[in-house]
Order: sequence, then structure tokens, then C-alpha cells
Amino acid sequence: MNAAQRSRDLEALAGGAQVDVLVVGGGITGAGVALDAASRGLSVALLERGDLATGTSRWSSKLVHGGLRYLATGQVGVAWESARERGLLLRRIAPHLVSPLPFVIPLGERLNHRKGAETRVGLALGDGLRAASGVSGRDLPRTGRISAHEARALVPGLRTGTLRGALLQWDGRLEDDARLVVAVARTAEALGARVVTRARVTALHGDGAAAVDELTGTAFQVRARHVVNATGVWAQSLAPDVQLRPSRGAHLVLDAAALGHPRAAVNVPVPGLRGRWVFAIPASDGLVVAGITDDEHDGPPEDAPRPTAADEAFLREALAPAFAGGIPDDAVVGRYAGLRPLLHAEGATHDVSRRHAILQDAATGALTLVGGKLTTYRRMAQDAVDRLTDVPCRTATLPLLGAAGPRPTAARDAAHERLLRRFGTEAGAVAALAAERPALLEPLAPGVPALGVEVLWARERELALTAEDVLDRRLRLDLHEARRAAAAERVGELLAEPAPAASAA
Ligand SMILES: Cc1cc2nc3c(=O)[nH]c(=O)nc-3n(C[C@H](O)[C@H](O)[C@H](O)COP(=O)(O)OP(=O)(O)OC[C@H]3O[C@@H](n4cnc5c(N)ncnc54)[C@H](O)[C@@H]3O)c2cc1C
Repeated sequence: MNAAQRSRDLEALAGGAQVDVLVVGGGITGAGVALDAASRGLSVALLERGDLATGTSRWSSKLVHGGLRYLATGQVGVAWESARERGLLLRRIAPHLVSPLPFVIPLGERLNHRKGAETRVGLALGDGLRAASGVSGRDLPRTGRISAHEARALVPGLRTGTLRGALLQWDGRLEDDARLVVAVARTAEALGARVVTRARVTALHGDGAAAVDELTGTAFQVRARHVVNATGVWAQSLAPDVQLRPSRGAHLVLDAAALGHPRAAVNVPVPGLRGRWVFAIPASDGLVVAGITDDEHDGPPEDAPRPTAADEAFLREALAPAFAGGIPDDAVVGRYAGLRPLLHAEGATHDVSRRHAILQDAATGALTLVGGKLTTYRRMAQDAVDRLTDVPCRTATLPLLGAAGPRPTAARDAAHERLLRRFGTEAGAVAALAAERPALLEPLAPGVPALGVEVLWARERELALTAEDVLDRRLRLDLHEARRAAAAERVGELLAEPAPAASAA
């Protein structure tokens, strides 16, 4: 997938080539539908107005979760679906991008004996779902109780003053949500889907859609037998009957060193808000992601909503008591927020069902696929494409490009380790771009973990068209403001180099 291929695909579509399925939206939902449909032998086009993962899909907590919170609200079906999909992602579909993550739940002032016991019952139910979903205790260990000393060994910055011990629970962690979207879209493309970014759909018709090439301003029509609107919080702009009630979730990105380099996530209840928890999750590259808020969003949806000062204060106040040194100002290295595409329902947004829905437009026949979450994208796509064909779904057993077996434990060096965890079995091909220029395996700038080869790979193979596509959605330097600024110049230089003849052809 690259700029030259995009031009060819655009030309074919604008020239009148009809597809079986037109997917609108290049977040995880649209990419999932494109993959599902292409893998059932249907011809597919996906149009995305910005870059892949421009919208909500890059602003998640980066968890592939087993649905514990849904159990707490009695949504057993949603929890079961999450647990099952987590197992498929972890073991077969994307084991290179999803890994087990321990969560420490401190048993202290905020979780007294009664609440601790209640929490333990919920976690035991989660263990039951995990086992029923075919994930062994070796892949995701069962919940247990650990001592304060053991908790501190996992999270050295933990405040231990009144700690009676902790519960230890396991869930799935994504290396990077945008990378999952790109991997799904590339796998769809490898099966024949045409993926065109910077192509905005302006209206849906019974037999396709009207669109505009955002790079040239040229309007064109796409002919399609079926249309799936997967535009997340923007769904209503193409399907006016769809009623959404977006909720904003904010995160802070913290320097792991300030919290003692935790090896486990920390999960603590928010005092006075029943069922609300905040967490600090260790991420790669020396970062910790802290979240999450859940507030109704007013106004039109934005690509990159910013956390408010109140969001930041809420997260810091709720988390600080769990850490001996609190959350110092200089620990905050980045911040982001995203909008959940929730269907309209009464009640507070954190009580609204996270289940997905498929709605058919009476005038155009287009399907809108909305709601759900990253973890369940495959199932959402299956349900939508089942409406379009009798050919059975294949994606439960279809690994994504780069999917490897159990991760090799020892990488040659830090550069190799990084490539393995971000590119899986394709790491060797990415590294090979440095065959004649070993400097491309060096960090882009001091203190920036991303490598030169990743920039070239993003341009040649991952449809990155601009420096922002590379910085923000392929390398994810948008999560760390100083690193992004430090790397921008080098990324610009590498993108200015001529593309190899093969990709320009
Ligand atoms: C704060 C937060 C944390 C979350 N954490 C998790 C988590 O840890 N785990 C989990 O499983 N889920 C999580 N979720 C849920 C999950 O992120 C979302 O459900 C999912 O990413 C939605 O994906 P989507 O593809 O439907 O929407 P989006 O990613 O928003 O994609 C829609 C796309 O459509 C494009 N588009 C819009 N209009 C047009 C048009 N007219 N023409 C062409 N393209 C268009 C947009 O540019 C966008 O790229 C979280 C959500 C939020 C908000």
C-alpha cells in the first residue's frame, strides 16, 4: 500500500469499476469490514477521508480486554464477545501486537475487605469467561492474591503504607491501536481490497457513493452493490437517522521513570463513583498510559479532541494516592482524548451499552456499523458482512500480516526488539531497508525510539502520504510531545528522498 497504488485504485474506482462492497471509514471498524469482505472473495473498496486511524481508533486505552467491566453492569453477552475476541487476537490473529498484561489492584483504604471480596468475585467470573473462550491459564494466568511486597516488586512506585496486599489479574495489551488498524487494512489489501485514503464520501446512494479526492479536490462516483458506513462518531453525517451520543475519554501519557518503571498496570477505584476505575498501564518505549474519563461530548466530533484541564486534574487526583511520589507535573509527557461512538440511550454515558449495532438506511439500503470497540472489531465485521453474502466468514482463523507465533524471547539488539514487537514476522523485511545504510537502524533523534527504516516502510508499504501520517499514526510520536518535535525534521528529510522505482511505478 503506497501513494502510487492509491492513485491506481482511485483511477479504477473513479473510472467506473464496480465493487461488491464499498466501505466508508478507515478506522478499525472499516478496516475490519474490508478484510472480512475481501477474505470471503468479495471485491472491496475502502474510502477514508483522512489517513488510516485518523479518528477514534488511535485514541484508545490500547487494551484488548476480556470485558470485565461489562460483567459488572450485567452485560454478559458483551463480556463474552470481548473475551472470545481477545482470545482470537492473542493466539491467532495478531499475537505480535497483543500481549498479556498483569494488573495490580491494591487492597488498601479504597478497597476495603467487602469491596475487595466483591471485586474478587467479578474477577473470578472473568477467569471463567477466559477459560470458556479457550485461553489457557498459561496464556493469561488466573486471578490471584499477592502480598504488598510482591505488588511493589511489579510496581516499584506503589504506595504501600496501608496496603494489605493486592489482587493480580491479567488482560490483553495492544502494542499500538493505530498499528492494528494498519495491519488489518494491509491484510485486506493483500486479499485484493482497494484502500484509498484522503477520499471523503459526501453522500451515499442506492448504488454507491459520491466522493471527493481530498488531494486534488476532484469529485467522483463509486459504484457498489453494497455500502457499509463505518465512520464512527461521524456516522450521522452520512446516515441522518443514526442517533449517536459520543462520550469523551481522556488519557495522560506519563514517563514510566517517574513511576518507577512499572511492569504491571495499576487499577484503582474512584472514590464516590460506583463502578468507576482509573488505571495506569505500562506501554512500550518507557511510557505509561493513564486513564480514563467518561463524559458526554457536546458539539461536532473532532479528529483529535484535547483533554480539558478538568480531565487532567481528575486523572491525576484519582491516581496520585496509589503512587508513593504521586503524579508529579514533569511526569506528564503527553495527553490525548477520543470520542466513543455510542448509540443514543438514556443514562450516564458510562452506563450506555458498548455493544455494536447494524442499522440499515431505508432510502439507500446502506448499512451503518457503529458502537463496539477495538477488541470486537472482527465480530462486528462478521455480523455486517453476514448480511451481504452467504459465503462463510474466515477471519477467526486468518492471521494478520506480520502475525507470528509466540514471541522470540531474545532479540539481537534494541532496534531489532522494537521492530519485532511492532512488525512481527515482517521485522526482517523492515530491517532490510537498512542493508546498504545501517544508519537507518538508528533512532530518528536522541531520545526518540523510532528508527529511520520505519519511516521508509511507512511510506512504501503502509500508505503514509505525509509527515503527519508517519509521525502521528505510524510511529505514534503524537503520544509524546517532545519526541514528536525532536523527530519531525529527520522524518521530513527521509520522506523527501525519492521513492524506489518499484513503488513509484
Ligand atoms: C478514550 C477511548 C478509549 C478506548 N479504549 C479502548 C480499549 O482500550 N479497547 C477497546 O477494545 N476499545 C477501546 N475503545 C473503543 C474503540 O476505540 C472504538 O470503538 C473504535 O476505535 C471505533 O472505531 P471506528 O472505526 O468505528 O471509528 P473511527 O476510528 O473513528 O473511524 C471512523 C473513520 O471514518 C472516517 N470518516 C469519517 N467521515 C468520513 C467520510 N465522510 N468519508 C470517509 N471517511 C470518513 C474518519 O476519518 C475515521 O478515520 C476506546 C474508545 C475511546 C474513545
